[in-house]
Amino acid sequence: MEITTVGVTGAGQMGGGIAQVFAQVGLTVHLHDVSEAALQRAQRGIRQSLDTLAEKGKLQGSPDAVISRIHLTTSLDPFQAAACVVEAAPEQVELKRSIFTSLDAVTLPSAILASNTSSIAIATLADATRRPAQVIGMHFMNPVPRMPCVEVIRARATSDATFAITSALVARLGKTMVVSQDRAGFIVNRILMPMINEAAHAFAEGVATRDDIDTAMKLSCNFPMGPLALADFIGLDTVVAILEVMQEGLAGAHYAPSPLLREYVAKGWTGRKGQRGFYEYASARTPPFRAAKGAIS
Ligand code: NAD
Repeated sequence: MEITTVGVTGAGQMGGGIAQVFAQVGLTVHLHDVSEAALQRAQRGIRQSLDTLAEKGKLQGSPDAVISRIHLTTSLDPFQAAACVVEAAPEQVELKRSIFTSLDAVTLPSAILASNTSSIAIATLADATRRPAQVIGMHFMNPVPRMPCVEVIRARATSDATFAITSALVARLGKTMVVSQDRAGFIVNRILMPMINEAAHAFAEGVATRDDIDTAMKLSCNFPMGPLALADFIGLDTVVAILEVMQEGLAGAHYAPSPLLREYVAKGWTGRKGQRGFYEYASARTPPFRAAKGAIS
């Protein structure tokens, strides 16, 4: 099956990047969000990212040509033309289930419905549709244009054909696929989230300063950024939501989010996208490793 048109719903940090990489390989993309402001923000972010790639000589074609393939919409109707839709809405089970039910109603019966969820069982989302064989996990990494890995998650009902088409799509994006069973957190977050949570516990206990925790992990483990900066980059609300899904799905009390993470989210400190988390940021697009300005505790 030759895919020419795809849909992406949820135009936040991830959805914008996913739309961009699809458009970069020549696909027509319908990018949907319930918020017009989010769509406009996504388009500005895509433009900035494409301009940077073009300056570095890493973009095939012009930024304008790529942008012209991305159509913004607050209606799901354009998804009628899509062979595959990737959902990238907030990490909330009931919200995602209702989106899958809507996608099921609006798209062609043959379309594949993929979720970019970080942790929620794909079977739970598939159960909200009448096409569980065509539902799959397609977990991109952040920032999508730069990160070369996509975690693909097969649920119990996912068909071989759906898996084959999704694998081919990942290959077309020039990314490397890893395959996970449908268990909460899959591979990446099963391993990453306990580390981030532990870093938050250590900071809250006063084991070390924020900067020493991040520097220790960067220089000792050869990570490009420390766990607290990475948590800000992911979004502290998303980190808390993933840990909650893992706590329930894996029945492990030790996955319970650190009270400090919850406190920050309750204050609206969602990390880089909220311009404040463990660090402060001049703007939502400032890279955390260059943006640190004074400790917050
Ligand atoms: P985000 O908060 O940046 O963006 C979510 C977007 O979804 C917002 O623009 C919001 O307006 C929109 N939205 C809300 N309700 C919607 C609805 N009913 N229909 C369509 N859009 C709706 O979140 P994000 O960081 O982009 O995360 C999105 C998904 O990707 C989550 O499942 C998250 O776990 C996953 N993910 C996040 C990261 C990361 O580093 N942030 C990495 C991999 C996967």
